[in-house]
Amino acid sequence: MNFLEERILKDGIVKEGNVLKVDSFLNHQMDIALFDEIGKEFKRRFAGKNINKILTIEASGIGIACVAAQHFHVPVVFAKKAKSINLEGEMYVAEVESFTHKCKNQVIVAQKFLSAKDHVLIIDDFLANGCALQGLIQLVQSAEAAVEGIGIVIEKGFQSGGRMIRNLGYQLESLAIVDSMDAEKGTIVFREQG
Ligand code: 5GP
Repeated sequence: MNFLEERILKDGIVKEGNVLKVDSFLNHQMDIALFDEIGKEFKRRFAGKNINKILTIEASGIGIACVAAQHFHVPVVFAKKAKSINLEGEMYVAEVESFTHKCKNQVIVAQKFLSAKDHVLIIDDFLANGCALQGLIQLVQSAEAAVEGIGIVIEKGFQSGGRMIRNLGYQLESLAIVDSMDAEKGTIVFREQG
């Protein structure tokens, strides 16, 4: 069991509706020493990749991406969620359905921060059905930049996103993959990773 799986078992709370609450260390209160270990592990898994930019999505991805960026020595761009778009300047736009809030958002990135020269590592906190990732990939494709890899902190392997993204051929690295969880019993089972 890795450092993250241990922490999820210790402090994660399984909620009804397939939601794993990790707000005591990941997406409300943030354990920066843990984030640093996460960043180090992403760096190890994407060693040898030519990455010059990290792309994430507000809000929960930002802290993780910023700490990870210190291991890659690259800037972080975060896609902004916009309810209605005031197209000030040139923007790339993609549509994302929120798993946790059950609503649709447009996500935007200014064209000046993403271009055909960029080799992008996409980072996010959770992977469920893959909508957030599809939106981020679409933004990178709109810029004609390259997706070098995708780093996820917690993948819920019983939902469809991971399979869909791997089938598209991307190097997707999830530091913990939850294969099943039970809100009533409070149990979490992780996938063995080599
Ligand atoms: P997807 O777009 O893959 O369906 O969902 C990913 C997004 O939904 C993530 O950016 C994350 O913020 C949120 N999310 C999905 N599942 C969970 C969960 O079980 N717990 C928490 N805290 N966030 C989740």
